[in-house]
Amino acid sequence: MDLSTPLKFLKGVGPARAAFFEAKGLLTVEDLLAYPPMRYEDRSSLKSIGQLAPGEVVTVVGEVRQAKVSGFRRRSVGLFEVVLGDSSNSRLLAKWFHGAYLESIFQPGQRVAFFGKVEFDNYSGELSMMHPEYEIVSSDEDDPDSTLHIGRIVPVYEAAGKVNTRQIRALVRRALDGIGDQAESLPASVRTRLRLPGRAAALEAMHFPPPGEDLRLLNAFRTAAQQRMIFEEFFWLEMGLLLKRRAARRADGIAFELNDRVRERIKAMLPFKPTGAQKRALGEIAIDMAEPHPMNRLLQGDVGSGKTLVAAQAAVIAIENGYQVAMLAPTEILATQHFLSLKNLFTPLNYVPVLLVGSMSAREKTQIKKLIAAGMIHLVIGTHAVLEDDVEFQQLGLAIVDEQHRFGVLQRLRLVRKGKSPDVLVMTATPIPRTLALTVYGDLDTSVIDQLPPGRKPVETSHVTEAQVERVYSLIQREVDAGRQAYVVYPLVDESETQAMKAATSMHEHLSTIVFPDRKVGLLHGKLPPAEKEAVMRSFKNGEIQILVATTVIEVGVDVPNATVMVIEQAERFGLAQLHQLRGRVGRGADKSYCVLVTGKLSDNGRERVRTMVDSNDGFVIAEIDLKLRGPGEFFGTRQSGLPGLRFANLMRDQELLASARDEAQHLIAEGGTDFREASAWVAANWQRRYGLVEAG
Ligand code: ADP
Ligand code: MG
Repeated sequence: MDLSTPLKFLKGVGPARAAFFEAKGLLTVEDLLAYPPMRYEDRSSLKSIGQLAPGEVVTVVGEVRQAKVSGFRRRSVGLFEVVLGDSSNSRLLAKWFHGAYLESIFQPGQRVAFFGKVEFDNYSGELSMMHPEYEIVSSDEDDPDSTLHIGRIVPVYEAAGKVNTRQIRALVRRALDGIGDQAESLPASVRTRLRLPGRAAALEAMHFPPPGEDLRLLNAFRTAAQQRMIFEEFFWLEMGLLLKRRAARRADGIAFELNDRVRERIKAMLPFKPTGAQKRALGEIAIDMAEPHPMNRLLQGDVGSGKTLVAAQAAVIAIENGYQVAMLAPTEILATQHFLSLKNLFTPLNYVPVLLVGSMSAREKTQIKKLIAAGMIHLVIGTHAVLEDDVEFQQLGLAIVDEQHRFGVLQRLRLVRKGKSPDVLVMTATPIPRTLALTVYGDLDTSVIDQLPPGRKPVETSHVTEAQVERVYSLIQREVDAGRQAYVVYPLVDESETQAMKAATSMHEHLSTIVFPDRKVGLLHGKLPPAEKEAVMRSFKNGEIQILVATTVIEVGVDVPNATVMVIEQAERFGLAQLHQLRGRVGRGADKSYCVLVTGKLSDNGRERVRTMVDSNDGFVIAEIDLKLRGPGEFFGTRQSGLPGLRFANLMRDQELLASARDEAQHLIAEGGTDFREASAWVAANWQRRYGLVEAG
């Protein structure tokens, strides 16, 4: 047996269990060993039931005396009760609501372990546990494995389908014994410097902690063994990202010329003086573009910080050098918005931009594609439609991806492949805590626009319940009377436009006929034909429409400085990032702006989101809290979005180790030598498969 042995060949794993493991992504012995316990229980000195006190969280082992569904309303509630006894002659009740399924699991006479909080049961006057974790320890004293499960600190694993923690524990033991002393995987120099335990010892101690190990450290994943495994995982992740970035920096690319003529053209385009932060970002981009290697740069800046203007300047550099530019946006509305503002900027320069989106007619698309292929178009702005195979550029020099987190890494790659090593600029308004950026965007260089255009005033945010909606109307009334404009936005429910569209449509009806009969109220949702969307947006932009009711199609990119009110209906349904994006649609002009969150009943999480919005206008603060509330997986969407598959490490918990792993990887790359060459070979052979990332450079 070795690490690559398929799990189905491990004794005790038949085809059925192998299938359960496979569903969890565990295929080989190595995968099983990299399946860390979710927590640990100290069963080395067990308390007898007689020693238990209410309030304690403990593991207790005893014998099942009785196991049955009980209570009057047995059918509806299905209260399942186990009476646990031991030699101390005391009893502990364990109870599960809707526990009828447990009937087939517990039988009198079994030895079981319960883990949970001891409570005093007022009803029976006895000690009890509600919904304890349980494990059938053994009914057979001769079980050779029984020393694994009791009388020690035991690992508790998340079940894999029908393979329970106890079975996994035994299989892990067998796997550890079977492979014997494993090869070290970290470079010796790194291990020595950080005084890390060896791999085999660390794996052993992670699964089966030695006696006396500190349970609190274990459950926080902070023992030396656990930290070593986490470090190893981060080290190779960073090593791969850094090598990839290094290779990309050395690859052949386009060296754009940045001469006085190009500078003049940029100046001729600028409608206002760029902020210091915009200048700095463009400076960094321009240096990259002038290098004879492909640029891979992330442009990060809060909503409204003026990323589009920076992207437009980069586009001028590419176009003046005779190349085409592509800009990818996640929604048609956003693409349309970019198209309109870039068209304004570029008309004086005589550039030809086009919009290419899915809802255009086939004829229109064919026509546009022909022009792009013939090099008649300077700038293509569009949605996923731009990624289609038959979109061919004559000479793509710069690929811009807006709101990158909405796209997968694969999609970025598809766009890039439409050119010959074009420069790539990725833009995001979702500020990412630094350590996370190192993993998700570790292969990109970063520029940050950390300054808003002058004259912006913070948006005043408030919260009202659905019952207080009259207040919202009077705010809108006041602002509209003063010549300003308002948005009323509805969330998409389960990504489906239909419900949101219905809600928006009836609100539009209500506002236009009853509340504001003498005002023009517009309606915008995803199911309108593109021409109509464009017309509505145009009327709102030039002030013909005073109140715009919309679904979240306007979430990003809409830019109307005269709009001063953003009402977000059913705000509890939005995530923080989305709420902040929406709020960024107002506060763009000289006048004070307002954002009102209208909510129904709030969950704890919903209340926290609303409070965060009311308290803070800072995108970074909001992103940190968002990340905390949702966890990195959901924060970034799918694995495809570029978040690596991690087994030991937790991006939130282990940020310090990530930083240290990155330092070590950088150090090794700078140092070179045998360790470095071996490490590079490991990355070349394993990295792609192990981290599930897609080549994107
Ligand atoms: P982002 O895409 O970063 O959210 P935008 O590029 O849409 O932001 O810019 C937001 C608004 O600020 C737009 O109305 C834009 O015209 C304006 N703007 C951008 N840069 C400046 C600047 N330097 N001075 C004044 N206004 C600016
Ligand atoms: Mg270049």
